Amino acid sequence: MSKPVCYSTKAFSAATASSPLGATTIERREPTPTDVKIEILYCGVCHSDLHFARNEWHFTQYPAVPGHEIVGRVASVGSGVKKFKVGDKVGVGCLVDSCRTCPSCQQGLEQFCDLGMAGGTYGGTEKHLGTPTLGGYSQSIVVTEDFVLRMPDNLDLAAAAPLLCAGITTYSPMRHWKVGPGQKVGIVGLGGLGHMGLKFAKAFGAHVVLFTTSASKVADAKRLGADEVVISKDEKQMAAHAGSFDFILDAVSAAHDINVYMNLLKRDGNLTLVGAPEHPLPVAAFPLLMHRRSLSGSLIGGLPETQEMLDFCGKHNITCDIEMIKMDEINAAYERMLKSDVKYRFVIDMASLK
Ligand SMILES: [Zn+2]
Ligand SMILES: [Zn+2]
Repeated sequence: MSKPVCYSTKAFSAATASSPLGATTIERREPTPTDVKIEILYCGVCHSDLHFARNEWHFTQYPAVPGHEIVGRVASVGSGVKKFKVGDKVGVGCLVDSCRTCPSCQQGLEQFCDLGMAGGTYGGTEKHLGTPTLGGYSQSIVVTEDFVLRMPDNLDLAAAAPLLCAGITTYSPMRHWKVGPGQKVGIVGLGGLGHMGLKFAKAFGAHVVLFTTSASKVADAKRLGADEVVISKDEKQMAAHAGSFDFILDAVSAAHDINVYMNLLKRDGNLTLVGAPEHPLPVAAFPLLMHRRSLSGSLIGGLPETQEMLDFCGKHNITCDIEMIKMDEINAAYERMLKSDVKYRFVIDMASLK
């Protein structure tokens, strides 16, 4: 395979783990026959972006360009591209490649590629160039058409950007555990993930209870569709819900006690973690044993399910609650994100990079 020709595009990158992000120019491949070149209009800001920029997961190569909640318009297509044409509204999430042949990939679960070849939108390997992949804090990106998603026409593109990570991360486990009408579902934490989990659980027809440590979030949780809000520090309020939940989605990334939530599950109920606390969480055996409860995790979603989620959002008019920022406000946005001071996702207006 010969190396494709490259072009230059503007981006925002971190030069080291401790340096703020700043303007730069990066090289991307020109589209190969199966590639789509996308003019990026908006990019959501995920907490993973910050971990990655600061090398908190210890695999970052610099310069690092974060961003995996990418939406834009098709700028050009390779000669063999069948699904997209110039001008189409498209999205790219956390993955830009995988092996395509292993059992997981064949089943559309590319995020779990058995060969470990799920290619991250940033921090992965650009297999045409042999360089690290560079994310969506950029004017444009080139992605193989199989990893490009179609954005519903009726959704506000900026508010739809975070569906590509926060959306699918919460949608996928609720589909897997068959959340639906007649069920009681809990969402732990009202942040970027939690507020999307709340919207999906409601759209699936469940009775939704939002758990938060902060009384200041009660009104907002109700506005977003929660049937009930429980202050998780209040033991009396928690005890009132013992043994009553079919499913609980835990979207908290900070250290917290999951055993108090296990006790709220019914027989055969499940608690799924989608947050990633830095240290292991202690799990008591008895709450699991007593009612055959289960604890599991979930990671984003494969390409077919991500498209299904986007189409579901189009049909039910679901988007994220966002705060739009300019590209050069990203460093301040990271500081605010660390304090959970965002309702509920920052989205970068990429026109501000020009
Ligand atoms: Zn993310
Ligand atoms: Zn695979």
